[in-house]
Amino acid sequence: MKLTHYRQTLRPRYTFATSQVAVDEIETIVVQLEHDGLIGLGEVVPSALYGQTLEASESALDAMRGRLGDDPFAIESIIARLIEHHDAQRAAVAAVDSALYDWIGKRLNIPVWRLLGLDRARTQTTFTIGVADPDEIRVKVKEALADGYDALKIKVGVEHDHDTLGYIREHFDGPLLLDANQAWQPDEAAEKITALAPYRPAMIEQPLRTEDWQHMAELCRLGIAPIFADESCERPADVIRLRGCVDGVNIKFTKCGGIREALRMIALARGLGMQVMLGCFVSSSLAIAPPLTIATLADFNDLDGHLLLADDPFEGIAQAGGIIELGDESGLGIRRREI
Ligand SMILES: [Mg+2]
Repeated sequence: MKLTHYRQTLRPRYTFATSQVAVDEIETIVVQLEHDGLIGLGEVVPSALYGQTLEASESALDAMRGRLGDDPFAIESIIARLIEHHDAQRAAVAAVDSALYDWIGKRLNIPVWRLLGLDRARTQTTFTIGVADPDEIRVKVKEALADGYDALKIKVGVEHDHDTLGYIREHFDGPLLLDANQAWQPDEAAEKITALAPYRPAMIEQPLRTEDWQHMAELCRLGIAPIFADESCERPADVIRLRGCVDGVNIKFTKCGGIREALRMIALARGLGMQVMLGCFVSSSLAIAPPLTIATLADFNDLDGHLLLADDPFEGIAQAGGIIELGDESGLGIRRREI
């Protein structure tokens, strides 16, 4: 197997901000895995939140070349080896996992979602509105509703929360997901969350800092909305640790390492009676297709990373309002856009 990679620059439609960071240009890494005349594709979307950088991802990819072996079908043992040696660079592992599944699907001439024995990869995605000043948020909300999105995710934990949410609830009655991105201290979170009740949140993501995960149990007991761990939940073992402390987990491929690890996390979460959300970072369609293949297994899908771009270098995910889906093409069904 021949692994090559290159960087691509992505520009969001708007500066994308959470309560923690603001970005107006993003670089990701496209991975190509060539074997027997076919090329499987993946995208590394590193996140500094998890100690990942472009450079560390590229070094990991270079070191992975000697660990791939010569049989792309041996995905279980390949990914186990990569995780053993590159546990800290799971965004890079996820890209190779994607490229392997894409390659296998292309070789067998079936879509990856069929290869996995799942229903057609089709789901409602939430559309995320980043942190911005109230006027800009009003414009973004109007645009999102005009574009037909029927589930919104709002970043909270900032000064204008109540302005924003009040405005949204005047214009939108559908599912409203709130993400606090670790904004609150344990002793203030119950009060903050109680104050959000009138906006009828469908769920609340990561109200506390990563290390304060045990205190999230108290917030679940408020009964205002299901509390989900995002930053506190990276890998399969974290799902077990979080049992009884949160109602659900947000699984992202950048954190866990791809389809294989995400399926393990979903099985664990279901076994422990927890809900499941699939999330993403801002990326091209290439990094959204892999989680979309398994989206029918989740309660919430927040797979809008490519929809936030001014110009997506890849295509293959169809969209109608808030519904996104993959077609019947073999592999991931994602191709480079002709420009
Ligand atoms: Mg989040």
